[in-house]
Amino acid sequence: MNAPLPGLVTRSTAERAAATIARLGGPEAARLAHRLATETQGEVLFDAGSRGRYATDASIYQVMPLGVFVPRTHQDVAAALAIARELGAPLLSRGAGSSQCGQTVGAALVVDASKHLRKVLAIDEKAMTAEVEPGIVLDALNARLKPHGLWFPVDVSTSAQATIGGMAGNNSCGSRSIAYGNMVHNVLGIDAWLSDGSELSFGPVASLGAKEREIADFVRGLAEAHAGDIEARWPKVMRRVGGYNLDIFRPQSERPYTSDGSVNLAHLLVGSEGTLAAYRSLRLKLAPLPRSKVLGVVNFPTFRAAMAAAQHLVTLGPTAVELVDRTMIELARANPAFRPTMEAALIGAPAAILLVEFSGDDRRELLRRLKALVEMVADLGLPGAVVEMADEGPQKALWEVRKAGLNIMMSLKGDGKPVSFIEDCAVPLEHLADYTDALTEVFARHGTRGTWYAHASVGTLHVRPILDMRSDGAAKMRSIAEEASALVRKFKGAYSGEHGDGLCRGEWIAWQFGAGIDAAFRAIKQRLDPIGLFAPNRIVDPPRMDDASLFRYPPTYRTIPLKTALDWSAWNVQNDPLTEATSAPGSGGDPSGGLAKAVEMCNNNGHCRKFDAGTMCPSFRVTRDEKHLTRGRANTLRLALSGQLEGVDVAEPLASDAVQEALALCVGCKGCKRDCPTGVDMARMKIEATARRKAVRGFTLRDRCIGGLPALARVARRVPWLPNLRNRVGWVRRLGERWLGISAKRSLPAWRRDTFDRVAPTLGLASRDEALAADKSVVLFVDTFNGNFETENAVAAVRVLQAAGYAVHVARAADGGELCCGRTLLAAGMTEEARARASELLAAFLPFAERGIAIVGLEPSCLLSLRDEIQVMGLGESAPTVGGQALLFEEFVVREARAGRFAPALQPAARPILVHGHCHQKAFGTAPKVLEALRLIPGAEPTLIESSCCGMAGTFGYEAEHYETSMAMAELSLLPAVRLAPDALVVADGTSCRHQIADGAGREALHLARVLCDRLA
Ligand SMILES: Cc1cc2nc3c(=O)[nH]c(=O)nc-3n(C[C@H](O)[C@H](O)[C@H](O)COP(=O)(O)OP(=O)(O)OC[C@H]3O[C@@H](n4cnc5c(N)ncnc54)[C@H](O)[C@@H]3O)c2cc1C
Ligand code: SF4
Ligand code: SF4
Repeated sequence: MNAPLPGLVTRSTAERAAATIARLGGPEAARLAHRLATETQGEVLFDAGSRGRYATDASIYQVMPLGVFVPRTHQDVAAALAIARELGAPLLSRGAGSSQCGQTVGAALVVDASKHLRKVLAIDEKAMTAEVEPGIVLDALNARLKPHGLWFPVDVSTSAQATIGGMAGNNSCGSRSIAYGNMVHNVLGIDAWLSDGSELSFGPVASLGAKEREIADFVRGLAEAHAGDIEARWPKVMRRVGGYNLDIFRPQSERPYTSDGSVNLAHLLVGSEGTLAAYRSLRLKLAPLPRSKVLGVVNFPTFRAAMAAAQHLVTLGPTAVELVDRTMIELARANPAFRPTMEAALIGAPAAILLVEFSGDDRRELLRRLKALVEMVADLGLPGAVVEMADEGPQKALWEVRKAGLNIMMSLKGDGKPVSFIEDCAVPLEHLADYTDALTEVFARHGTRGTWYAHASVGTLHVRPILDMRSDGAAKMRSIAEEASALVRKFKGAYSGEHGDGLCRGEWIAWQFGAGIDAAFRAIKQRLDPIGLFAPNRIVDPPRMDDASLFRYPPTYRTIPLKTALDWSAWNVQNDPLTEATSAPGSGGDPSGGLAKAVEMCNNNGHCRKFDAGTMCPSFRVTRDEKHLTRGRANTLRLALSGQLEGVDVAEPLASDAVQEALALCVGCKGCKRDCPTGVDMARMKIEATARRKAVRGFTLRDRCIGGLPALARVARRVPWLPNLRNRVGWVRRLGERWLGISAKRSLPAWRRDTFDRVAPTLGLASRDEALAADKSVVLFVDTFNGNFETENAVAAVRVLQAAGYAVHVARAADGGELCCGRTLLAAGMTEEARARASELLAAFLPFAERGIAIVGLEPSCLLSLRDEIQVMGLGESAPTVGGQALLFEEFVVREARAGRFAPALQPAARPILVHGHCHQKAFGTAPKVLEALRLIPGAEPTLIESSCCGMAGTFGYEAEHYETSMAMAELSLLPAVRLAPDALVVADGTSCRHQIADGAGREALHLARVLCDRLA
């Protein structure tokens, strides 16, 4: 067998890689990879994992690309184009890959501009224009524009990941399109390469160069030749994105493409889905940032009433009218992160709400319009049905819930999923109520139903019926599409109104526009891309939408039988498309016990590519690699578990190099568990994959040292000077790096004699019986780290709890030894040993938990494993009983303080306080409680650092091969924030976070317990 293909093909490996690539992808791919690697500076990715990661987008489709190219410069793109042209390989441009119709999947060379080609080239504040590279993300652009008081207002829901190139490719539309229009209304010019290699500048026809003018004349000729058809068949709604914009020469849209009625040839490329040209740069029309916004949330007793009202509400001049239906309301209420926000918008139990926003500079005028809305709604027979939100905080929170709408919906477990194919038909507002009623009936006839939401202002409502593509989904999809299209025709709407054509709506272009205009589209493609280099079979000659060979989950999809270390049965379920009720855990028929179905929860929406708030996903934030992204990891696992990764042993898919490489930089922060809308928990999946890998390949010395750290501690603390030599003597450090792979650049936590065990007898701790008998008692879980390296923290916790009147007991194992949660063992892949330690832990805590006595821990990752991993280790009923009483120190303090049981006398705060939340605190939502606990100190005004993972992540940052990545993660926001506040007291509850702050910023961070203890009066 050939050697495995390296992830990255470089100049020096190109020769060797060619043979393997030829075997995997054929000689064409091999030649392509070889030339790209030797003639460009870009990243050349032709291995099975990389191709698999680029085989999908947020659609139901999957097609393996020939290979992936990540250009570093414009010259790289031009060179790749030339190479592809010479070798006859098709080329597919890609941004974030968040398209919903399969626009970015194909058997082509996929060119990903999102990593390196993302500069803002110019901002003209006066003219309110900007020029950007195609790979820049909308939110990143708007962050750059904010200081200028400007923004790019095509505010798609995927603003945190969608690139401007991708948005132009799809002619994307934002929630506020009623005020600002779609992409086509906001693009002023595009510089792009044609397939012959020429670089053209598309813009206003009045100022075109000779070659561009010839194209303009050609398209004008077509528009004139098909004038009759255009008048007769072109949808007159603003939300029409299907086909090419041939109507630039015969405007049909409700909203003119340009403000002065002139023609801009760049608009031909907008919405062309990468089929006509590859963008080099785009000139954009900006808008002033509105100074003020107000929101009215109209509560409707019936869905139809909401639909019927939309046409009236738009007459008030809102910037957005967005729908959220009852299912979405209930799903949001069921999600702890969204519940308070959603409930603040409701009056009783409405069947639907419309979010009506007014924005502008004159606040009094906006408030007047809000009042007019209240009056109009009353006139429509609904007095008192509007929740008025004049402040921006609650508005922003509600918009976030609305933006997360689709993702919330996609969290349904089981094989039936809401499927996107008719979800953005646009109909004139006067027909909206009849259209939605009729389509709901269509769904019912097919034994399914849809959840409605989104852009009521422009008649584009998103709706996805629940279908199981692995069984009868494709047949139902076609029938529903045919019936929906008849409705669209009846109501004179557009079949493709927002997300583009791609694979699922391409075949409807001819249906929508007729044979004449379809022929004109073919002529445009032939004129601009005569060799068919760009995105073949899209827009022109598209495949059937229900061609199962293009599906991600075709009826032939199977997963490999597997015995897992953890219990995944909660995912192993099926659902009822009508009620969305799920079957009992374990009944879903997944031969991997639910692991595969947990992985399949990733719907590829790309939300994990965001860079703003939240934790997910630190390794992507520093690498910008699809491979080191939650989505990339989930795709790698899915392909491996379904036997689709070439070269992977189907008997041991999790142990493969492809899986391990994809998981290598996952720091197990659980950011995805909380931030991923469908709850993909990659940290838990990594435990599973590591366990299999180690079972097959064996353990390294480092694994044994890390996994066995708690056991080692019993010896090391007797002779601390010996292991501490590693920190003091240079050559020992270097030896440690060579033998153990522990970075010589790192200091390790220092061993000490005065461990918690030694000082415990002096602390007046309660015995087991005393704790069980006391009125106010608590069990403190002193973990390996605080017990051995940071005695002060555990002592401080005891003092604080005692000062508040608690009998504090520290539980021990049956043999009198220290307790351990087993996390280090899990990280090293030693799940059996971890299970044994966890079982010991549960046995020790159970008697207390059964009496309702809180088990309080200091180290977030150790304590929270009682509520997370230990629950899925098959340890019986004691796990939920103990997990139910397990609280982090801050949670306990806050709970007791709120109940009036925790009120020790505290001295006022002496310094400003900065808090860094451990990732697991954030994943479990406990970080705000650290702030609340700190506020018990008189005068304390703690602030939370908006940070992702600190980068140390247990042992990750100590590992030599991860040192640079670890520091890069810390430098993203944590260390700069600490440096910016030299006088602040830094609070961090995680051992590794404190170590990272000390290493990277030279500052000592303290555990909350120590801060409270220091302030005890
Ligand atoms: C949860 C969710 C919500 C969404 N909400 C919205 C919404 O509110 N409004 C909306 O309009 N869409 C929405 N979409 C669809 C999608 O996010 C948008 O179309 C988005 O603009 C695509 O951006 P991208 O960077 O992911 O582009 P990609 O998907 O990577 O590419 C889109 C198209 O542009 C082409 N392209 C990309 N780069 C270039 C280039 N350099 N040169 C030439 N062609 C190029 C591609 O070939 C492809 O055809 C949503 C999708 C999801 C999953
Ligand atoms: S991992 Fe989650 S956030 Fe990322 S693409 Fe998949 S579903 Fe979306
Ligand atoms: S656990 Fe953290 S690093 Fe790993 S995939 Fe999830 S967010 Fe990314």
